[in-house]
Amino acid sequence: MNIRKFNGEIVVITDLSKTAKEVKIKLSEPIDFNSGSFMNVFFDINGEIVRRAYSISSSSDDHGYITFTIRLSPNGLVTPIFWNKNMIGQKVELMGPLGLNTIDKMNHDKIYLFAFGVGVGVVKSIADYFSNYKKVNNLTIITGSRSEDEILYDLYFKELANSHKNVSVLNVVSKSEENSKIPKGYIQDFIDNLDFNNSDIYVCGQEKACNDLISKVNSMSHNDCSLFIEGFH
Ligand SMILES: Cc1cc2nc3c(=O)[nH]c(=O)nc-3n(C[C@H](O)[C@H](O)[C@H](O)COP(=O)(O)OP(=O)(O)OC[C@H]3O[C@@H](n4cnc5c(N)ncnc54)[C@H](O)[C@@H]3O)c2cc1C
Repeated sequence: MNIRKFNGEIVVITDLSKTAKEVKIKLSEPIDFNSGSFMNVFFDINGEIVRRAYSISSSSDDHGYITFTIRLSPNGLVTPIFWNKNMIGQKVELMGPLGLNTIDKMNHDKIYLFAFGVGVGVVKSIADYFSNYKKVNNLTIITGSRSEDEILYDLYFKELANSHKNVSVLNVVSKSEENSKIPKGYIQDFIDNLDFNNSDIYVCGQEKACNDLISKVNSMSHNDCSLFIEGFH
């Protein structure tokens, strides 16, 4: 895929939870990208150009618009602006698509997609591709969120699992409400029974969470397993 510069305009912002928003950007030219890609986004903040990387959470079928799924870093420079100011109509520059952890490298019939927090956005884009195009025998998705109200795109993944026999989805939370039916723990607490032989494993989210999960995966025996790790640092 060619790396190019685009002009973009923020056209829709959707609240996904108290700390996550989906930002839809209209691009000046159509884009081709493989799911799993990210873009560098350049924001003009009081005359200073600031760059941040965001994984694309929309389907690779959409060429004129892309979405990013953004989590608030309360003390950060860029993300609080999305909570404090109306960003609709805001112009941004973008460069991409970038990244190595993309669907074209995933060649097994068994795929595991593990998403921590807002990493579920890019997993949504990858799941969209594998459920619609490159049919795989097993697509197992596990999302890990802090709490039940921080589970993102729940309906999308439920519908995906209901309409595709080869897709299974599990949401786990690290802090659960009393009497909640959602399993409590980290993703790595729910992988003991998974067979990672002959599979691709994609892990996305905060770098530390990704590394802890990968340590657990590496401690389990498996052959011919490819790891794709997208740590948000
Ligand atoms: C490949 C890639 C893909 C990514 N995809 C996504 C995505 O899809 N969604 C998403 O939400 N994020 C993603 N990120 C992270 C994103 O690029 C930003 O880092 C994030 O949004 C925070 O930006 P910010 O400007 O709000 O915070 P920043 O200003 O970058 O600050 C981040 C944190 O660091 C702390 N900090 C800042 N400066 C200092 C300092 N000097 N000393 C100590 N602490 C400091 C802040 O308090 C804050 O908590 C991705 C990152 C990478 C590398």
